[in-house]
Amino acid sequence: MGLIDIETARAAVLERSPSPEAEPVPLRSAEGRRLAAAVVAQADVPGFDNSAMDGYAVRAADTAGAAVSSPVVLRRIGESRAGSPSGAAVGPGEAVAISTGAMVPAGADAVVRVEDTSTTGEEVKVSSPVARGASIRSRGEDIAAGREVLPAGALIGAAELGALAATGVATVPAARRPRVSVLLTGDELVEPGTELGPGQIHDSNAYAVPPLATSAGAEIGCVEVIGDDRGTTAKAIERGLEGDVLVVCGGVSVGEHDHVRPALGSLGVEQVFWGVSLRPGKPTYFGVAPRGTLVFGLPGNPVSAMVTFLLFVRPALLAMQGAEPSARSLTARLARPYRKVEGRAEAIRVRVEPGDGGWVITPTGPQGSHVLTSMIGADGLAFAPAEAVGLEEGTELRVELIG
Ligand code: AMP
Ligand code: MG
Repeated sequence: MGLIDIETARAAVLERSPSPEAEPVPLRSAEGRRLAAAVVAQADVPGFDNSAMDGYAVRAADTAGAAVSSPVVLRRIGESRAGSPSGAAVGPGEAVAISTGAMVPAGADAVVRVEDTSTTGEEVKVSSPVARGASIRSRGEDIAAGREVLPAGALIGAAELGALAATGVATVPAARRPRVSVLLTGDELVEPGTELGPGQIHDSNAYAVPPLATSAGAEIGCVEVIGDDRGTTAKAIERGLEGDVLVVCGGVSVGEHDHVRPALGSLGVEQVFWGVSLRPGKPTYFGVAPRGTLVFGLPGNPVSAMVTFLLFVRPALLAMQGAEPSARSLTARLARPYRKVEGRAEAIRVRVEPGDGGWVITPTGPQGSHVLTSMIGADGLAFAPAEAVGLEEGTELRVELIG
């Protein structure tokens, strides 16, 4: 098994990840989706000059010199309410009562807050001067027509939904969610809730891996558990290849009962790489099926499966939705010495905290590829270079944030 480095492996995956396909999605169902194309504003937001306050729309010049002791007296000629503009235009010495969000009437160039006025009948006394433009939110101030509201790849969350709705968009060009099938291999696997026989273990990957796919925007096709048998493996893989991405956990190493690679080969899946200089995750496999399905063979050890999913599968899923595939990263210092084995790069599960002069990382505990609790509470993966042996306290490492 010739090992390639993490970045080379990831680049090979991204190079083969198909571009997003757009599908129209109504805004109400768009939460959590990615935009397949940029959305450009068709109209200004706000769509008209409107008041930021309840008060009176006036001509600013009329209020010059106004004071509590010597208020300026204006004549109220109408009212502009939210949704019901006033037909009247404001002339010298005149005012139009106005509500927050109501259209500023013609002729007015400022709004006096109601708190700075007192009214008797049609008489409006203004006790404080206002400058031109005061308390007016101008047309297009937030979003100008023709401007890009959101770029392609943007994740649609609450703020994005709000901004899209504000511009009047009812349907967005969302990237089609990649369909992911997950196969779990191993004669030893038993469902949680079932009592374990000798040598059996509970299938944890069936629970840890699918959420990694859905949190990357994918849709789960099937999740299937199969024994270590060549024929069954090939049949299940054949079904799994109907989706966009197939993730097979376990059975991808060099053991006598590892049937995944031969089965993939027999189905015409072309191997791109097998073996990454990475701990945990050395026997990671990546290939492409004849009709383009991306196939990942992840090592069965639960931490290896999760880490290699985050490093290789997640970027592919993001790229397939037009999103930035790289995880957010930072540089941080080790809070304490770390014992590392020479030879392979290591993805250390760490907690990230602010410290004096920068971020500080602490490994989440024992780092064995079977120690699933090392994933709990991990903020990121810190990368120790292949050639490193012992890492001293304070060593700077690059960290890719997870979750
Ligand atoms: P493998 O990659 O098939 O050689 O499996 C490596 C280790 O991961 C073995 O100890 C397996 O029992 C374990 N393993 C494989 N699949 C799973 C799974 N779905 N859930 C939990 N552990 C697993
Ligand atoms: Mg196995």
